[in-house]
This record gives sequence, C-alpha cells and structure tokens, in this order.
Amino acid sequence: MSQFWSPAVQRLTPYVPGEQPQERLIKLNTNENPYPPAPGVGVALRDYAIDHLRLYPDPTSRALRDYLASAYGVSLEETFVGNGSDEVLAFAFQAFFCHDAPLDVPSITYSFYPVYANLYGVTLRKHPLNTQWEVDLEALAGAAERSGVIFANPNAPTGHAHSLDAIEALLKRVTDRVVLVDEAYVDFGAESAIALVNRYPNLLVTGTFSKSRSLAGLRLGYAIGSAELIEGLQRVKDSFNSYPVDSLASLVGIEALKDKAHFNACRDKVITTRERTRQRLEDLGFEVLPSKANFILTQHPDFEGAQLFAGLRERSILVRHFNTSELNNFLRITIGTDDEMDSLIEALEAICG
Ligand code: PMP
Repeated sequence: MSQFWSPAVQRLTPYVPGEQPQERLIKLNTNENPYPPAPGVGVALRDYAIDHLRLYPDPTSRALRDYLASAYGVSLEETFVGNGSDEVLAFAFQAFFCHDAPLDVPSITYSFYPVYANLYGVTLRKHPLNTQWEVDLEALAGAAERSGVIFANPNAPTGHAHSLDAIEALLKRVTDRVVLVDEAYVDFGAESAIALVNRYPNLLVTGTFSKSRSLAGLRLGYAIGSAELIEGLQRVKDSFNSYPVDSLASLVGIEALKDKAHFNACRDKVITTRERTRQRLEDLGFEVLPSKANFILTQHPDFEGAQLFAGLRERSILVRHFNTSELNNFLRITIGTDDEMDSLIEALEAICG
C-alpha cells in the first residue's frame, strides 16, 4: 500500500491472469486456441513493409471495422475495436455503468468485472446462478434501479450459454440501461446476440480475436452495438489514446476475418474434442457441466479440486483451479488438441485410479 495511490487504486484487487509458464507444459489454463491463426496472417506479416511502422495507425481503424461490419452483417457505425476485449469492457464500464445505481451481474462470471467495478467505483449487485449453474436471466432482468446489466454468454467459467430467445426476453424487460453481452466464447457453439443489435439500441455485444481466431498474443477485441453506444465507447477511447488498435493488429485481424474455412475447421475440431473429452471425463466419474465454450468446468465427487490441480501440475499439465468457495472443488480445463486431451485423461486416470 502506498500513500501516493488514489483511494480507487488502494482498494483495487487486480485481476490475476492464469500462469504463463516458462517450461514446456500442456497448457490448458487460459482458454487459448490450440491451433494456429489463419495462414494468411503469417503471409501478411512476412510481406509487411516495415517502413509503415514509422506512421501512426488509421485513427478510425476503418479497414478492420469494414471487415468486421461485413462479417457480422452490421454497419460501420455499429462497430468498435480495442486492444483485447478486456480493454473494450473497461471502456464500457466507464461509458455506461458509472451511475449511483448498481450494475446487475451473475455471482459467478468473468472475474474481470469486479476489478473494473472496483476501479471505476461501480457497485455490483450479484445474482446467484440457478441450480443448473446457469446465469439467472430472470433475476438479472427483474432487479430495480440499475446502472446496467452485464453477463458473459457462454458464461465463464461455467460454459453454459443461453439461447437468443432467452436473451431477447431480458432485453424486452431492460430498456433503460445498457445490457452488455460478453461473447468471448460464442463461436464454440452458442448463438450470437449480434442478431438483436438492430432492434435493441441498448444492447452492446463484445467479442475477441483471442479465442476462436487464435490471436490472444495480439490483443484485439471488438464491440457491436447501436451507433449511439459505439459513440459512447468512442468518447472514452478518444480520451485515452485516440488510436483504436495498432497497424499490425488491424492487418492481422483482417486476415483472420477473411479466412472463414480455417475459422470453421478449427472451431469444429475444438467442439469435437470438447465433446470427446466430456465423455471420457464422465467415464472416469467426473461431473462435467455442459459447455458451449472452448473449456469445461468439471469436478470429481471423491477428489478435491486442489488435489487434482496439483496432481496434474506434477505431470506437467496446467489447468485452472479457482480459490473461491463456490468453485473450490472444480477445475476449468481448456480444450486443447486431441493429443493434449489424451495426456490429460491418462494423467487423471493415474491420479484417480
Ligand atoms: N471475456 C471473457 C468472459 C473472458 O474469459 C476473456 C478472456 N480472459 C475476455 C473477455 C478477454 O479476452 P481478451 O482481452 O483476450 O479479448
């Protein structure tokens, strides 16, 4: 603690991301994609005229946003890009949720929301998940006086996704404040709420290139919403650094968006491996929550989460274990390649056997 820190920074508990190990491990802890980005990304980087790096990037990120708009069937004015969706989320907190009333949020969800709430002085009103470990949209919709609603769909770290109909039912009830749907994992089998943006001017959907497009190292995220909401984000953004993303991120992002075949093939492999892994874990006696994401949340009735985590770590396999009371017994496991998941199952057989 330092006397030089502002009160907001003094009370801040920073987000601690999953470990990025130096040694060679099977890394299943931060929901990265096990497959490489689209081949066009490599070609574009190799052919890039580095003299361009002398120049500032396009302050409107027009080329990338054009591609994004056509990929998602929206207009340019309905798109926003930032350095990872974490940054886009931070702008959304500042632009929309800094009111006196609380922000409605599921009690178990992406752990960055409380960090931003803390930093920007936003009070959270947490709604427990239902008995199926699903986000309780009824409860989120039903609360009175709020600064907004935020949830991840699929949710993290549970993996459950609500249907578009269920999200629309919430939007019909919450019209006075922004509803932010964080779709970091939507491409692995869930329905995107972007389809509803034209009808609900208070709906903001955020997404990322880190997961389904294999570009976590680049830091590229986006938001899609009404021009009114995008302008709100833009106002905050312009007060920070008026360049949305750097030139290389724009270039690489466009290449990733262009290659639909690569995107589909990698997504399908992850989904197939996820279902195969779920089945094999269940055969070992694990309970596996149904997932529409590139990870699964699982627990074993006879073994503690910490014990399984340590056993896997000893065998050079890194998964995510949360030290919270509700999730203490669970492991969140990223879906890797089939070979990686075979090693995981073998290790668990040894530990649980
Ligand atoms: N939302 C959720 C639910 C996430 O799990 C993550 C990844 N940790 C993000 C947003 C942020 O992703 P990125 O900043 O890499 O775009």
